Amino acid sequence: MPSYLQARRRMLLDMHIPDWDPAFLRSYEPADLATLYARAGADGALVYCKSHVGLSYWPTPVGGIHPAAASRDLVGETKKALEDKGIGVAAYHSVIFDNWAGERHPDWRTRHMASYPVRGWAGRYITMCANQGDYRLYEKTQITALVERYDFDALWLDMAFWTAICVCATCVAKFHAETGLDLPERVDWQDPRWCSFQCARERWIAEFFVELRDAAREVRPGLAVTHNLAPGLNGWFHGQQADHARLDSFPAGDLYGGRDQETFVLALMRTLAGDELTEFMTSRTTNLNQHCSTKSEHEMLIEAAAAVAYGSAFLFIDAIDPTGRLNARTYDRIGRVFTQTKAFDRFTGGTPLEDVAILYSDTARIDPTEVAGQDGAGGPSSPHQRAVVGISRMLRRLHIPFGVLTDNTLASRVEEFKLIVLPEATRLTIEACDVIRRFVHNGGSVYASGGAGMLQVDGERLDDFLLADVFGCSVVGVEDGECIYYRPVTGSLTEACGVDPYLPATPVRGWTPRVRLSGGKALATLNVPFGYPTPRSQPGHAFASIHSSPPWQECPANPTLVANRYGAGQAVYSTCAIEVEHGEAHQEFLSVIMREVLALRPRVTADAHPDTWVIGADQPDHNRVMISVLQWTEEPTGAWTRAAVTLACAGRTVNQVVDVASGKPLDFTVDDDTVSFDVASPEVFVMCSVEFAM
Ligand SMILES: [Zn+2]
Repeated sequence: MPSYLQARRRMLLDMHIPDWDPAFLRSYEPADLATLYARAGADGALVYCKSHVGLSYWPTPVGGIHPAAASRDLVGETKKALEDKGIGVAAYHSVIFDNWAGERHPDWRTRHMASYPVRGWAGRYITMCANQGDYRLYEKTQITALVERYDFDALWLDMAFWTAICVCATCVAKFHAETGLDLPERVDWQDPRWCSFQCARERWIAEFFVELRDAAREVRPGLAVTHNLAPGLNGWFHGQQADHARLDSFPAGDLYGGRDQETFVLALMRTLAGDELTEFMTSRTTNLNQHCSTKSEHEMLIEAAAAVAYGSAFLFIDAIDPTGRLNARTYDRIGRVFTQTKAFDRFTGGTPLEDVAILYSDTARIDPTEVAGQDGAGGPSSPHQRAVVGISRMLRRLHIPFGVLTDNTLASRVEEFKLIVLPEATRLTIEACDVIRRFVHNGGSVYASGGAGMLQVDGERLDDFLLADVFGCSVVGVEDGECIYYRPVTGSLTEACGVDPYLPATPVRGWTPRVRLSGGKALATLNVPFGYPTPRSQPGHAFASIHSSPPWQECPANPTLVANRYGAGQAVYSTCAIEVEHGEAHQEFLSVIMREVLALRPRVTADAHPDTWVIGADQPDHNRVMISVLQWTEEPTGAWTRAAVTLACAGRTVNQVVDVASGKPLDFTVDDDTVSFDVASPEVFVMCSVEFAM
């Protein structure tokens, strides 16, 4: 029987069902679930052992047991029913979120920092402090007994992250013992004590997961264990780093951010992955808060096909009805999607052909505007993350395949790429800046935006960029207004700006640098609105138009976009993250920066509709390159779409180009060591094999 770890079409049934009504889960039958999964063509299933409610579905020696599992072992029955159908099974176990434990042990709960707003998990959820010793023992006892009793292919620990800036007595004592310091009273990214506490929170939450993982492996050495990557895509608040995926057997996460997020996350997971398949999970409904809003078959297919293109396993999350009944029609829809994606199983994998890497930095994943008790934008994102998703979207629409690097992988893998993007990475380490400097000096290219390393991990705010020599410009101030403009000074950028003479941009107030040249060349200069930087609500006639803030004052000595040669390479620096904007002109600006100024020639690219996403993977063992073409439209177009694909042959001779689903050969031409072919198809997802002579 195939293991869960090799399964590419996975399912999870959310079972966060409480116990206060006897009708809850009365109708749940494991055999029915196994029948539906098998009918849908699933080959892997993640099975609920304990939910956020804190109730287990098996006879756990400690903790609560759901009444539906009082006289029968639902985990054991479900596991057997699935395995009898040839479906690999992994165990889902919720930690931190445990209402049963929280109601009985109030001292295990988190205690919120008074100065910081309570976010997200108020109301239905009771969450524990990861540092509480008795709570850790409770989880370890459960996990140990679970893996002793059942032989799962993998253990999946959910919710191993902070739900509060916890200031409970245990956290206070632990921080003091480790650092000699008292807890800070507020979030302040320029306060060394806060920075030190955040470092401790990140370390503690990683140690919590490792302790639970190792408890499981003590029973079953080598057991595959993972924990949810999704908090690493969320804010700093949860304390989980994306790079904590190195502690997992495989990266896995449930995400609901649509196509802009999915392309980025699939590339990120691949960077973080070891030997096992990565796992991209999303709900079959529009999000987890919806119980009855099933996605269209088109949307499901796109999401699943994107995972195929990236060589990732894909998992649909369904949520059980409180009665325990299942909706068979859901599984029929999923089945039609899985039937289509299964055809590509034997063509996935290989080395991605990507020339651009986006730095997704846990260090930069903060909001620098949160200073001295002022609550910045906060929430689940940060300027860096918004810029990362923005540049991912733009590169996808410009048909420039990209990879992702993290703090942990930057130094070791930077040389695999021709161009590195540093999107709004205000907090960046000296070490990371040194890697970038060496990379550019040796002939690489960099595009950087925003604060670019002006804040250090210990809270020190610098007067200038650490990479001022690479950027060819230096900081002379900061933007404190809501809106600025770029005035292009080259012909290409003027044309890219379209009908408008200026490109609007949004500063991170108090952080977006104002610069002057120090060796570089201005590609665009600053223009600020009338009355700038006075806020729009301020009385005093400090505006020039009642709704908008039009361009007004030219600042020709202050470039907003700078090109610079450094060593054998080159840099483009932009004071604002223009990649977060959705304007046509912003995208054209980026296109000129990448293709013209930095002379990027992607090995794989296409001339196609912006919603067509094209990526390639080299499979030298098979003497071929696989090209995936995804029509990432919100609705099916109902028409044939065309993508003119080009691939650098790297000296190899092309034998043929084949559409692998139909087996039909495609016409192609080879010119200047580049093969070109048209993919014209009514299909949502097309995979082509470019086969080379032996
Ligand atoms: Zn605590």
